[in-house]
Amino acid sequence: MDIFSTALGLSKQDNGFELTGFLVDKLEEEFSPRETAVYEVFGIPWHYSKENTVDLQSITIRRFNYADHLERQNSDVSQFIDAIKSGTPVASHSDDDNLEHIAIPVPSRNGPLRLIVISGINESPEQRMKLFQISELYANMVGLHDGHERDQLTGLLNRQTFNHFYERTAQSALIQESQMFLAICDIDHFKKVNDNYGHLFGDEVLLQFAHIMERNFRYNDALFRFGGEEFIALIKCVNPECAEAAFNRFRHAVETYEFPQVGKITVSIGFVQCGADQFPNTAIGMADTALYYAKEHGRNQVINHEDIRQESITSEGNIDLF
Ligand code: GH3
Ligand code: MG
Ligand code: MG
Repeated sequence: MDIFSTALGLSKQDNGFELTGFLVDKLEEEFSPRETAVYEVFGIPWHYSKENTVDLQSITIRRFNYADHLERQNSDVSQFIDAIKSGTPVASHSDDDNLEHIAIPVPSRNGPLRLIVISGINESPEQRMKLFQISELYANMVGLHDGHERDQLTGLLNRQTFNHFYERTAQSALIQESQMFLAICDIDHFKKVNDNYGHLFGDEVLLQFAHIMERNFRYNDALFRFGGEEFIALIKCVNPECAEAAFNRFRHAVETYEFPQVGKITVSIGFVQCGADQFPNTAIGMADTALYYAKEHGRNQVINHEDIRQESITSEGNIDLF
């Protein structure tokens, strides 16, 4: 494979997700490694400096899951922390001097740092050169995609790719005989945070909130900042109880977190079970109705749209469509 055709292939991908998937396929094809992994590392400053102190506690790592594996994949990158800290590739060798791993960090201005890790390849100087060239091409392209697909403040996905993920998740839920759930998570009384502490602290809360989200949901869940203090999680679960438990775990993680300066905040969550037979906007509207109910009934709670639909049927004696 020549570098030109790889460049062409990378440039043809519709979005950042497909782009990283294409990269993984290309690396497997080209280097036949034992394993290829791409991690998304959140919480790393875009500009590297010698004084960069990156501690594992303040960063969040999610493994990119292109093939949609069901089993949890290793997201422990502590052995690659040098590559993350320095912003330069780091190779490690085994006792017999074979290349064990090569970790290539790819910083992105508008998104998480991507860490490409290739394990168990027989490496030559030409091959190493090729690997770096491909990584560089990927870095340029992922930066372009991040520019319009990611929220600048948090690095989460924005509305741009929502429909793509909705369809993708719906399809894979069908294949895996699982269900898809969409939740809108809206910070309670966020205006007060801005009013009492100022916009800068407000932004810091949004950033920390996004980190809690990244830490709490699984790496094959899709997380978005939809605007302001509103976030969306698109997850797969076997049933509504399991989804509700997942959203409640997140709600509880927010409630117990000590936000710097600001202290405690809470989140209200409305969710709905949805699928390929619904328009994404219809599902969002239903989750929003459940969220509104949560706000009206004391906040800091998770409401399933199905439950309030049932409630309105029983109380009115007829079907009240939201
Ligand atoms: P509720 O519990 O009903 O959701 O109350 P709320 O105060 O959270 O909701 P409301 O919609 O009244 O206020 C949302 C606030 O979010 C208003 C706006 O100033 C603030 N906001 C929106 N985007 C940003 C942002 O990017 N940064 C900061 N700091 N504040 C933002
Ligand atoms: Mg709010
Ligand atoms: Mg709001």
